Amino acid sequence: MGKLIVFYKYVTVQYPEQIVKWQKALCQELNLKGRIIIATEGINATVGGEDHEIQAYVTAMEQHELFGQIDYKYAEGSADLFPRLYVVMRDEIVNLGVPAELRSRAYTGQHLTPAEVHELLTNRPKDLVVLDTRNDFEWAIGTFTDAILPDIYRFRELPEYIDQNLDQFKDKQVLMFCTAGVRCEPITAYLNQKQVASKVYQIEGGIQRYIEAYPDGYFRGKNYVFDGRIAVRVNSDVLGKCLLCETAYDDYTNCLNAACNKHYLGCPDCLVKYQNCCSEKCQNLVVTAQTHTRPARLLPKTSPSKS
Ligand SMILES: [Zn+2]
Ligand SMILES: [Zn+2]
Repeated sequence: MGKLIVFYKYVTVQYPEQIVKWQKALCQELNLKGRIIIATEGINATVGGEDHEIQAYVTAMEQHELFGQIDYKYAEGSADLFPRLYVVMRDEIVNLGVPAELRSRAYTGQHLTPAEVHELLTNRPKDLVVLDTRNDFEWAIGTFTDAILPDIYRFRELPEYIDQNLDQFKDKQVLMFCTAGVRCEPITAYLNQKQVASKVYQIEGGIQRYIEAYPDGYFRGKNYVFDGRIAVRVNSDVLGKCLLCETAYDDYTNCLNAACNKHYLGCPDCLVKYQNCCSEKCQNLVVTAQTHTRPARLLPKTSPSKS
């Protein structure tokens, strides 16, 4: 078994095209696969490979003038958790879709360590609200106790949600969280700029660092991840429900109808009953050969994109 690393860094990248080329070459040389986003504001990546290859990658990064002092989150993994190597240049390292001045680093929320978060939630102040900044398919299987769960499918829908629900945050201390922390950097800045919340916090290192320290803490269920693992069980609570029969269930599958390919929670009974389809409609299309079916083995690329 090899390793998987998740990391980001906000740093001014003057020549992002050159960094893209360098990252591609570096990862190819080391047989790494994954997803690397480069922007003038920094880098955001998930990369998998053999232990020594990941180590060589981290060493190369540490020697680079821009990419020292990164907080790498490690997990068991391999290059096979990704369909390919994807290195791309974007305007933002996470796609929030608001002008740069509305997500300025100068306004980002205060970072709390996992211990500080745990303490805050244990002695939860009356004016504290906890906001899950992730997408619906992520919080459906795991989240913090009593968190607000916005009904969004993509991160860039969150600013609109905040605009329409400012009352929820008025004069409140707001604790935001996401998987590894990167999404909270711009969205806490966005909320801070609204000047409604009394305080805006984000978890240093996101859910990932919190659950490492408190696996049986205030985060319950599974942590959704954007690689072939799809989700990592944190504790035994099952927050999800089968789409078809609503029984408690939290394993994702994709609809066998290739044209649908819906990413959904389907319990074993319903997978049999509906022949690996998300609905009777898709099942009928598959059974009557009116549609192509997905290849039997689920590849990570069929899971939704983080942005
Ligand atoms: Zn079911
Ligand atoms: Zn379907």
